[in-house]
Order: sequence, then structure tokens, then C-alpha cells
Amino acid sequence: MSLEVLLVEDDRELRSTLRDALVVEGYGVHTAASLSEAQALAAHAAPDLVILDLGLPDGDGQALLATLRRQRNIPVLVISARQADGQKIALLDAGADDYLVKPFSIGELLARMRVALRHRGTQLQASITHYENGQLTVDLASHRVQRAGEPQHLTPTEFKLLARLVRQAGQVVTHRQLLADVWGPEFTEHTHYLRLYMGQLRAKLEAEPGEPQLLLTEPGVGYRLAEPGA
Ligand code: CA
Repeated sequence: MSLEVLLVEDDRELRSTLRDALVVEGYGVHTAASLSEAQALAAHAAPDLVILDLGLPDGDGQALLATLRRQRNIPVLVISARQADGQKIALLDAGADDYLVKPFSIGELLARMRVALRHRGTQLQASITHYENGQLTVDLASHRVQRAGEPQHLTPTEFKLLARLVRQAGQVVTHRQLLADVWGPEFTEHTHYLRLYMGQLRAKLEAEPGEPQLLLTEPGVGYRLAEPGA
């Protein structure tokens, strides 16, 4: 049985390009060009994943996200233009799985979809507790972190921050989500904590801390731990 995707995009050309690419990949695709169409389809087509444009002619993509979060726990990828940064972050904080900035490549979209679907699959079983990529190995259960086979000693806060990223490896995590989960809900404005601790983690875990390959910055949004084994 093929996976069903709901593609919400009002730009006719982009919508048909994306639809064709998804069909070639074997996805079943429902398309919507407005918020009202998308809301009707979300209720009746029971999609497995939603690709959601932000600026729609009859409203804001956030409205659909709220509806989806109430109904079913399916992955939502936001696609947006660069100028909508604030809205993009709000959507991630509201429970979207990831975002892509236009223009993006089809290959990148498909990769992000696979990550989001895999995360939903693993969330239903158990959360990710083991991460390997190149020289870095992290095992959350045993609290072990190794680089090039050498044990790395992390402070409790460094470990908590790394663990939060491991659980969502391959996906962007916003500043707000990281601060709330690692330091607590009253610290969501303290982004300087993140800069400091990410610097420390990079110094311990990256081959070249100045040019990180694993602990990646998403400018203005948050951080992303590179996909495992990439
Ligand atoms: Ca649009």
C-alpha cells in the first residue's frame, strides 16, 4: 500500500512539479491549493504526511497544523519563502516536523520526508537512543559518547543538549524547543546559553569545530544534528 501525501501549495507550477515528482517516487498524492481545500482533504483523505505551504490565499498554514495536531499525529513538513522566518519558527514550535526554504531540490524534500516518516515510525515503537555518524557514537542509555573510538567527557548540560538533538537526529530543533527541554520553559529567550553550549559540544565532538559537519546551525531557527550515518 502506498503512502498518501497531502500537498498544500497555491502556486500552480510548483504544485504540479512536486506532485509529479512524488508520484514517480510511488507516493499517492492529494493536492490542495487553499486552506479550505486542505482542511476538507485532511479530514477525508487520511494522509500519512502533509507538505504545507505557509502563505495560502484564504488563510494561514498554521490553522491547518492546529487541526492536524488535534486529529492525528502525522508528520508535517512546512515549505516557505525565506521572508516568512518568524512564522516558520512558530510552526515548528507548534509541532511541524521540519521546514524547507524555497527554492529547494526535490531530492532534499524526499530525504526530509523519509526522515520525518521514520521518526514517526520509531516514535510509535521507542525513541532513538543510539546515534552513529562517521567518528561520533552516542549511546543515550549508557551515557556513552565517543569520538574516533575515544570516550568524551561531557558535562550534564552538554549531554542533555546532545541527547535532545539525538532523539530528533536529521530534523531541525528550534532554539525555543532546545531551551525549554534542556534548561526549562522559563529559559526560552536565553539563546546565548545555546551558542555557548553548542560551541563546547563542537569543540569536543567535531573534527573541525569551526566547520561543523554534525552539529549544524539552522540560521535564525535552531540546530540540526546530521542524519545518522550520513
Ligand atoms: Ca504560497
